[in-house]
Amino acid sequence: MNPEAFDLLGRLGLSAPGQGIILAGSAAVFVAAPDIDLLALRLLHHRSILTHSVLLPFLVLWLLPGLGPAGAAGAFLGVAVHLAADLLSPARGFGQIWLPEPFQVSLGRWSPLWIMLNALGAAWLAVAVLPPGDNWRLVVGAVGVVAAVGYGIVREKSLLSALVALGVVGAGHAAGGWLPPM
Ligand SMILES: [Zn+2]
Repeated sequence: MNPEAFDLLGRLGLSAPGQGIILAGSAAVFVAAPDIDLLALRLLHHRSILTHSVLLPFLVLWLLPGLGPAGAAGAFLGVAVHLAADLLSPARGFGQIWLPEPFQVSLGRWSPLWIMLNALGAAWLAVAVLPPGDNWRLVVGAVGVVAAVGYGIVREKSLLSALVALGVVGAGHAAGGWLPPM
């Protein structure tokens, strides 16, 4: 792509509708992203602590600032919904959170606590990384509801999963209202 076209894309991305699209697209990608540990099982084990945490969205925030705040906000939202759904599976075997090589030990019964804290933290950060303003809160709230219901019902085929994800997204949204922004 030539530099001018890239520049145009960059400016489009920073427009209000562009940021809305980036936020929704990023959420759609990152709702599935934690399970990329399945592609590196020898190194990571499934439900790796590295991918089932706020780390991946923070990498978007730090390494891809060109996406604008919506890129990271969508990533935090997606991971929050994924972790909310993971919270419902029992903390045995693959349900646990695992440290990578060379440790390959699990958090055991602390796994649900890890998942819950990271889900809530990600839901709050999705709001907190955005500039203040009702429009942003509206967009991140709407994308959060769609992601929670869509992932819960379509992917997990579980109403409970959708409700838990809605609760996590809602808690993050509420916290974003009274905790100081990032
Ligand atoms: Zn997972």
